[in-house]
Amino acid sequence: MRMNDVVICWFRQDLRLSDNPALTAARERGRVLPVYILDDGNAGEFAMGAASRWWLHRSLESLGRSLNGALRLYRGDASSVLPELAECLDVRGVYWNRCYEPWRIERDARIKERLGAAGVEARSFNGSLLWEPWTVCKGDGAPYWVFTPYYRRGCLGREPPRAPLPAPGGLEFFTFTDEGAGPAGGTAGTAAGELELGRPRRTAEGPGKSGLPGGLELEELGLPAEEGWAEKIASHWTVGEEGARRRLEAFIEEGLGHYQGGRDLPDKPYVSRMSPHLHFGEVSPNQLWYAVRGTGDDEHIDHYCSELGWREFSYYQLYHHPDLPRVNLQAKFNRYPWRDNAEALEAWKRGRTGIPLVDAGMRELWRTGYMHNRVRMVVASFLVKNLGIHWHRGEEWFRDTLVDADLASNSAGWQWVAGCGADAAPFFRIFNPVLQGRKFDPEGRYIRRFVPEIASLPAKHLFDPWNAPPGVLDEAGIELGVTYPRPLIDLGESRRAALAAYSGLRGGD
Ligand code: FAD
Repeated sequence: MRMNDVVICWFRQDLRLSDNPALTAARERGRVLPVYILDDGNAGEFAMGAASRWWLHRSLESLGRSLNGALRLYRGDASSVLPELAECLDVRGVYWNRCYEPWRIERDARIKERLGAAGVEARSFNGSLLWEPWTVCKGDGAPYWVFTPYYRRGCLGREPPRAPLPAPGGLEFFTFTDEGAGPAGGTAGTAAGELELGRPRRTAEGPGKSGLPGGLELEELGLPAEEGWAEKIASHWTVGEEGARRRLEAFIEEGLGHYQGGRDLPDKPYVSRMSPHLHFGEVSPNQLWYAVRGTGDDEHIDHYCSELGWREFSYYQLYHHPDLPRVNLQAKFNRYPWRDNAEALEAWKRGRTGIPLVDAGMRELWRTGYMHNRVRMVVASFLVKNLGIHWHRGEEWFRDTLVDADLASNSAGWQWVAGCGADAAPFFRIFNPVLQGRKFDPEGRYIRRFVPEIASLPAKHLFDPWNAPPGVLDEAGIELGVTYPRPLIDLGESRRAALAAYSGLRGGD
């Protein structure tokens, strides 16, 4: 390591110190300048939603603490910010862990080129996937279309995923002088814990060249803090690397041993809720893989790993089909007669459809920023197949409100439910929210928690209150259409209409 050499470690979806290949490599190369750049412009219509922005605020706060205040924050087009910063501070290298969203791939290629042309070493690493998409293909070199052979042959047939790295010790940071430009003098780069940080230069007008060096305060990034809706979801999560570690420990303790069957029961603590931590890279999939594998060898562990495989498959699809968030992978669905129905869409978003399991799911989302996977499938199927509303509208709402909103998993999830994706659920498999509730929430605890106005109904009538005898409704204090909505749509009729619309698509692809 040459201590005069400064390397920028550009944090993105890897807001952690442990198992962070870019950070480890930067540490080996010299003094580290950890940087985060809020780059909304390049994401276009896929910019982060409100829940993600809240999470990011918290996660940066946590990462900043772990880095003893050395993390520098900027806002703007990373393809300008990074080369400008590299030039102005005369850094030797810029290291980062790869992301796979098409807009990021394009932008990062531009950055690599610009840095290379300026003689700055640009290196990227795999810190977010078990198997990067271009490393897995069929015998003929084509990408897989179906999950099971992709995972079993394509992934498990390869060498096992990389073992996680420890957090690098003895990090030495680059520091700023009070003037905010150029490296500090001889005492710069003190070890973590003994930092003498210069006052960050405020750049309220954005990261123009003149204002670049010290960066912004966290509050100046304009991410939402704690008021209103964010305050509500905050109580459900401990954001940050340490929070992720504790969540994982709790899951291994109470959930993993029930995972295979229990993962379908929305009222039980049998799923890991690691998805937002994974999305922001507060934990890596490698850490999860080896943590659960380290506990033994049974069907629950295999099943959990295969769900991580579904996450990989989502990234795989996004990489091989960059238009996955907008274009039906099965072209025949371009002719599907979607309906515009603003009122029904609004009722769905707010959990006011009159279908208890759907409403419970949508309210769980609104209240916690999360929805159980089984219920995601049910509410998505209801929107797309019963209400006939385009899956894009659902994808957009999820993107705005989920704390784990992820371009790859969200787009792939919606294409899967809508039936138009790779290896998707067949269109004719239309989830019946009444039967799904009876099967996976038999005592109705999940519904009662999120739809309290019908909580006093006996389980027999909880899933379809519109069929309950008037006396039962009276006794439970329910007046349909007044205290709880009548169903927005007839489940049977709308199902038949969807199947008829689908049969009109046959014969094309
Ligand atoms: P666990 O059951 O504990 O699974 C562990 C991990 O495996 C998850 O954290 C996740 O990373 C991965 N995983 C599990 N199931 C899936 C799956 N079906 N597809 C991809 N990865 C999976 N997941 C997101 O992370 N972000 C999204 O924006 C998202 N949108 C979705 C939209 C729809 C319509 C559907 C049907 C699913 C969506 N999913 C999404 C997938 C899945 O619902 C969540 O990953 C899961 O519910 C997260 O909860 P968990 O961490 O407790 O999961």
